[in-house]
Amino acid sequence: MPDWTTTTADERYGVSRWGADYFSVMDNGELGVFSASSGESRCSTSLFDMVKRLQERNIAPPFLLRFNNILEHQVRLLNEAFANAIESQQYGNRYQGVFPIKVNQQRHVIEKLIEVGSPWQYGLEVGSKPELIVALASLAQHQPEERLIVCSGYKDAEFIDLCLTATQLGIRCFIVIETPQELTLILERSAKAGVDPFLGVRSKISTEMSGHWNETSGDRSVFGLTASQVVRCVDQLKAAGKLHCLQLLHFHLGSQIPDIRDIRNGVSEALQVYVSLFQEGAPMGTLNMGGGMAVDYSGLRSSTEHSMNYGLDEYAADVVEAVKATLDEQEVPHPVLVSETGRAIVAYSSVLVFNILDTMEFSTVDLPARDAHDGNEVIANLWHAVDNTSEQRLQETVNDAAYYREELLKQFSQGHISLRLRADGDQLFYAVLAKAEKIMADMPYVPDDLKKYRALLADVYYGNFSLFQSLPDAWAIDQLFPVMPIHRLDEEPQRRAVISDITCDCDGKIDQFIDGYDISGTLPVHNIRPEEDYFIGAFLVGGYQETLGSLHNLFGDTNMVSVDIRGDGSFKLNQELDGDSIADVLSYTEYDPRQLLEQFRSFVESRIDSGHIAANQRRKIIRNFQDSMSGYTYYETEGE
Ligand code: PLP
Repeated sequence: MPDWTTTTADERYGVSRWGADYFSVMDNGELGVFSASSGESRCSTSLFDMVKRLQERNIAPPFLLRFNNILEHQVRLLNEAFANAIESQQYGNRYQGVFPIKVNQQRHVIEKLIEVGSPWQYGLEVGSKPELIVALASLAQHQPEERLIVCSGYKDAEFIDLCLTATQLGIRCFIVIETPQELTLILERSAKAGVDPFLGVRSKISTEMSGHWNETSGDRSVFGLTASQVVRCVDQLKAAGKLHCLQLLHFHLGSQIPDIRDIRNGVSEALQVYVSLFQEGAPMGTLNMGGGMAVDYSGLRSSTEHSMNYGLDEYAADVVEAVKATLDEQEVPHPVLVSETGRAIVAYSSVLVFNILDTMEFSTVDLPARDAHDGNEVIANLWHAVDNTSEQRLQETVNDAAYYREELLKQFSQGHISLRLRADGDQLFYAVLAKAEKIMADMPYVPDDLKKYRALLADVYYGNFSLFQSLPDAWAIDQLFPVMPIHRLDEEPQRRAVISDITCDCDGKIDQFIDGYDISGTLPVHNIRPEEDYFIGAFLVGGYQETLGSLHNLFGDTNMVSVDIRGDGSFKLNQELDGDSIADVLSYTEYDPRQLLEQFRSFVESRIDSGHIAANQRRKIIRNFQDSMSGYTYYETEGE
């Protein structure tokens, strides 16, 4: 194996491929975050330094770091990509994006997006009444009349009334008709309010997408109107004399669409609907293509599910080209182009950092004493396998060892051998795997049958985080996120591990990692040094993860901090937010912390009466209980 350098680390963990110019391995072996992306003078800042600074401030891990610079840069890249495509193709209108609040509803994120999106009149897409309230309040101070609000989802009278109020206040607040029933209610409420609404229709798109979220597309998608429902909608609007209100077509092809050809095909189909609506006499003027732009989580730059075979510029250029070509042919004026790009805007900006609390090691094997196996033949065979593991007969030896181990297990289950002997057999089996692993490390090609044994040898590194709270998609849909150590990258990692969280759920583990150009079940990690924290980062977690997180095992929100990186690489920690306390998460699940304290207090009193504890212990016991209630839900090292 060539000497390990930071370049090897970059290769192995794939940082340059998934990092989109925002992350890099620094010469000192720490993971760097760039103040700005390509094209400008770049300066990278150590993520590990930020973690140390947070610890100095007594902010305990796990923490979520949000990088404002990255948010701002992604918004700029998206808008510039469309501006360039529009200019170079002489498209006759402009692009105006809206951020779908559901992708990250955190106040600081929304406020930052609105602030940095001002030059491009960046608006918001909402899918519920609470989200609309957030949108109206957040845009209030930022020239709301120049921005768009797009209202999706099922809408009741109250939701519609709120949209109409926004319209009265001078905001272009589009009500998107998602179901055939909605229009009657919208017409009723707008007649009552005396307001002409800005209306859009959401059309189902039959073109099916590849990738994880392909069910949002196709004829059987839950949302949107079929062709005949769109036609009925137009007729109803004509009958009510309100066709002039119909000014937007919306379609959403799905999220994380890996293949640009699918996007082109979907857009082409939607354009035919747009043209038809225009020809029916609706003024139209806005084409809202929903979300779907992917993020290259694996860095493989391919049309596989965790990746994408296009970049932001190509996405914009292809959409603009498809729209222009179709509409020019049909002599339809070019509409304002809107996208509800969510994931691609926010994914890069958040990083979850957690410390490793403990490890369970399988790869360090203590061999049992040679003569202590009471003449057991299976143990003797396992010893033979240990002594004869070599590259020539690797597969055969490993298969033999696995077979003998099973034999030994049978003997144990039938009560023929002791627990001690079984433990010796296990050790010998792992010793064969450890020898095999060393040989495999130098093999140019490792057959799949052998690779599967690697996972058995992997250590377990216990991370101070909850998968269900912080990376729910990793559990729910096997979403791959780049995960790697954020320091010691100039040292060769000597171990391979799966990362387990601290929930007591066997699903609470990460076992998919980027390994060069492969996806591996184990992560290369370093030995843990005594008295030294080892930190792992989970990257690209700014989209969906914060909102979908659940309170499984009652682990709450992590501590959070926003980071501004200055041009010279120095940084400022802003808006530190404490994660949930135990009392907080208990109240989310309908417990009243005060009542719990009262119940505990009376229990303690009863134990004094019964003589279990002395009266002078009472105060301390109750104070401990109270302190626990106000503490962090995650593992806290003493003194934190
Ligand atoms: N718009 C709608 C209607 C959606 O349902 C979604 C998410 O699925 C989005 C926008 C955001 O999509 P993405 O995050 O893929 O950009």
